[in-house]
Amino acid sequence: MKSFLEEVNEKINGVPIQRCYHCRKCTAGCPMSTAMEHNPNRVIRMIQMGRRDEVLASSTIWLCVSCETCITRCPNEVDIARMMDVLRQMAIESGTGAKEKNILRFHEAFLAGIRSGGRINEPMMMVNYKLRSGDLFSDMGMGIDMFLKGKLPLVSPRTKDMASVRRIFEKTRQE
Ligand code: SF4
Ligand code: SF4
Repeated sequence: MKSFLEEVNEKINGVPIQRCYHCRKCTAGCPMSTAMEHNPNRVIRMIQMGRRDEVLASSTIWLCVSCETCITRCPNEVDIARMMDVLRQMAIESGTGAKEKNILRFHEAFLAGIRSGGRINEPMMMVNYKLRSGDLFSDMGMGIDMFLKGKLPLVSPRTKDMASVRRIFEKTRQE
């Protein structure tokens, strides 16, 4: 049976995360580290120690915004953004689910927008997200301000090549 570390490395399919020597340059540059339950390099350590359940149930993997600052700073080219992506997928596939449920709902609303039009229409995506999360009014004032400043166009063009978009979604379902 594969260890947690082997499983994660296999899914990352790049630089193995044991190349990390815990210099913490990734954590020092991460814009989300102060909000994270475990710092990015600590997540690597936890994977190395086989702490699968704790890692998959942590909010950290959902708070990563995939900005890639970490891999840019890493002397060993460890791709933490890709690792977080893999861990999110593993959390869903294993039935652990998302500790930050609304972040998962945001991802789902984003993907639903891409699936239907090939690109994002922000107001439609926000309506979709609000309905999924049930958080209808918390930032309504900001939404109105953005709309009045023309930052939320009601109509946006669909991608012409929707057949390719459908193929991408089909392919990810098969993998
Ligand atoms: S910057 Fe790279 S080597 Fe340093 S702690 Fe982060 S992942 Fe590990
Ligand atoms: S990709 Fe994630 S872990 Fe890396 S710096 Fe950005 S937010 Fe932090």
